[in-house]
Amino acid sequence: MRRNRNVKIVATLGPASDGYEMIRTLHEAGADVFRLNMSHGSHDEIRARHAAIRKVESDLGSPIAILADLQGPKLRVGTFANDAEDLAEGAMFRLDLDSAPGDGSRVCLPHPEIFAALQPGATLLVNDGKIRLQVIECGPDFANCTVLVGGVISNRKGVNVPDVVLPLAALSEKDRADLEFVCQLGVDWLALSFVQRPEDVQEARALAAGRAAVLSKIEKPAAVKAFDQILAVSDGIMVARGDLGVELPVQNVPPIQKRLVRQCRSAAKPVIVATQMLESMIESPMPTRAEVSDVATALYEGADAIMLSAESAAGQYPREAVETMNNVAIEVESDPTYREVIEASRRVHRHTVADGIVAAAREIAETTDIRAICCYTESGTTAALTARERPRVPIIGMTSVRATARRLALTWGVNSVMTGDMTRFKMAVVNAARAARDGGYATEADQILVIAGVPFNVPGTTNILRVAPCEERLIFATDPG
Ligand code: PGA
Ligand code: MN
Repeated sequence: MRRNRNVKIVATLGPASDGYEMIRTLHEAGADVFRLNMSHGSHDEIRARHAAIRKVESDLGSPIAILADLQGPKLRVGTFANDAEDLAEGAMFRLDLDSAPGDGSRVCLPHPEIFAALQPGATLLVNDGKIRLQVIECGPDFANCTVLVGGVISNRKGVNVPDVVLPLAALSEKDRADLEFVCQLGVDWLALSFVQRPEDVQEARALAAGRAAVLSKIEKPAAVKAFDQILAVSDGIMVARGDLGVELPVQNVPPIQKRLVRQCRSAAKPVIVATQMLESMIESPMPTRAEVSDVATALYEGADAIMLSAESAAGQYPREAVETMNNVAIEVESDPTYREVIEASRRVHRHTVADGIVAAAREIAETTDIRAICCYTESGTTAALTARERPRVPIIGMTSVRATARRLALTWGVNSVMTGDMTRFKMAVVNAARAARDGGYATEADQILVIAGVPFNVPGTTNILRVAPCEERLIFATDPG
């Protein structure tokens, strides 16, 4: 699907967006990536959504990325005899390992490793941080807490422990089973929830074994601290503002978002800004001004992608939410200030031949009338490096690897086109010109840039930049070799 914007839109699927028709509608409205949330939905439901996405992809002919989001080590309390209890400020409340139903004085927290790591003074947050408990004394199987902020606690509510690096396995039994299930189905991105250390990412990478790219969700203070190392071993990042704003004071989230987005762009790895972007659209066809502003801010910061969660998964207006993001993106990206900001925040990278070539491509596109930058890319790296430059003209990712075409659906500005195996550069130029014409990016009278690495099947060889005409006869007439 040709888009007239560069930022990508991720839409989470759920009961509100099930089925071929709705998924197709969302894709046509602007969703480039679909997120399967493994915290909800049975394997059968996930399998059906996956099949529907792939059918839309083959019917419409443009690569779509599927991102499977693993639940991760999410902590939950057990259940209550009365389903819910109201905790009063100043009261005592006990967490323990006893699986008996809870009451107003205690409930089960079925995670022995948490009790082992807790210290008096640590804070526990329940139900998205609405309830705050402080540990007064604890042992291997209990923690007696005072209620700092009270409220209603009910069955299986989530628990966050922000102050402590938890000795938790990065992937639960469920995550491992889900990971294997989605890798066998065939997904393009795996998102890891509650990453704490780079080793967590390495562990998932080993299990994915190249079958999916790995994206780390930054939603723990420990992950913010270890961000450089986590980024180094991840293929992409999500600024998971929901849990991040529970584990840290909410006012810490915007500066963290800014820093993470910048660092990801520098590393040429895609970054998603996620959660509550259009929260009010769960129930309203119109966003608030503040939400529109939040979406716009992520764009001005240079994010690769913006995400819808409940808005598209469980809300009443999934299509309108995607359309809103699409419209905001078109408007922001045509603002001269956007260009100024994006260009002013570009950093110079001079480490490899590829760094130099993509920077030169961007400059040539700014100097002359070039309609598209077509980059041959097998791993996706050359296209990602080109995207890091944030050029003014569309980027066409030319690849013979379907997984690469799909993964690049998350990367700023990249439109992927499948090619056959290339052997001769001349044919690569002919193909690129055809892709530019067919995609409506250029006419026979226009010029494009072609970036490639020759020989073609050796990764990491980016070594050619050619200004080429789009008319086939002229391509042959001007071929240097
Ligand atoms: P979640 O992750 O929607 O899986 O919780 C995103 C977030 O926490 O922001
Ligand atoms: Mn989260």
